[in-house]
Amino acid sequence: MFVFPRLRTVQRRLFSSLQPEAAVAQQYRPSEAPYLTDTFGRQHNYLRISLTERCNLRCTYCMPEEGVPLTPHDKLLTTDEILSLARLFVSQGVTKIRLTGGEPTVRPDLIDIISGLNELKAEGLQSIGITTNGIALKRKLQALHTAGLDSLNISLDTLDRHMFEIMTRRRGFDNVLASIRQATDLGFNSVKINSVVMRGTNDDQVLNFVAFTQDSPVTVRFIEYMPFDGNRWNKDKLVPYRELVDRIETRFGRLTKLVDDPNDTTKAYKVPGYQGKIGFISSMTNHFCGTCNRLRITADGSIKVCLFGSTEVSLRDMLRQGYSEGELLHYIGAAVRKKKKQHAGMSELASRKNRPMILIGG
Ligand code: SAM
Ligand code: SF4
Repeated sequence: MFVFPRLRTVQRRLFSSLQPEAAVAQQYRPSEAPYLTDTFGRQHNYLRISLTERCNLRCTYCMPEEGVPLTPHDKLLTTDEILSLARLFVSQGVTKIRLTGGEPTVRPDLIDIISGLNELKAEGLQSIGITTNGIALKRKLQALHTAGLDSLNISLDTLDRHMFEIMTRRRGFDNVLASIRQATDLGFNSVKINSVVMRGTNDDQVLNFVAFTQDSPVTVRFIEYMPFDGNRWNKDKLVPYRELVDRIETRFGRLTKLVDDPNDTTKAYKVPGYQGKIGFISSMTNHFCGTCNRLRITADGSIKVCLFGSTEVSLRDMLRQGYSEGELLHYIGAAVRKKKKQHAGMSELASRKNRPMILIGG
């Protein structure tokens, strides 16, 4: 693995007095993680890394039908670059990494990346997750589990095959269902289903998904439809999470509110007596910017401090120009300190330039 000239020193300094087990439990105060703490005191300990811009589906809410211009292969982060950046962020207090895309399972070195990240668990990383459409997951799941993957988010917007093909512009519904079943059988720490809800398209599926949690130990998360370049977002297609709670309670009775973790984007609930849970990601009607702890690295190596912000800094270019770890941290810290207090609100966001979602990674 490529190692920055001074990174080993930083790691020795940070962890010299700690056994690996103690390092795992390490909590960083803002003064100890200055590069990843913004001007509003938010500490960023969750990194989302996009592995690819490619995808085997063409979801309507994520990308335009004609596709998106792809970055040439040699401009995408390599396995080593991904692992080096991951190690740098873990040295600064990142405890959770999620791999996304595009579709991360189309990347041939996925298992190597997860194995490499797994080694960072001795340096403070606590959890490795992946967000996937589940199409090509089933054959890889056992190996991913063995390599150290802890949690799985599988995207599925409908339990109706025909609607699946309309929303994703591709076939593969049975593969996704099979992946979800296999994931729960394998005993991952957490299996979540991500469902983007669009009015007049799949909002009639919400009650079916809630029923699905009766016998399935998954969390189904209903995500408010967000505006990105090329996805023809329209406010009328957004179903506010409160409306969904009302609809669900009308059919299933009063939901039990569960306790959410401080940085959780999901408001979690449960139908009393059901095995699984449900959750709402209300990015548009009730944002969670105040507790945001997430940073993103795009497949072409840019750090993005906000899903909805267009400010980006290319870490890839710095890596390839031989910047030291100290110089990289300087620029990462500068980007983090520019993070805004909150996103601009949905009407404003809809008219702003941003990448299409497929080029960010969610
Ligand atoms: N291909 C993988 C998948 O679909 O799970 C990972 C990448 S995808 C961009 C990450 C997540 O973003 C998915 O759960 C997807 O449903 C969600 N997503 C994509 N476009 C969205 C939008 N416009 N609004 C809300 N969520 C969106
Ligand atoms: Fe592909 Fe995921 Fe986007 Fe769908 S949401 S087009 S599966 S990247």
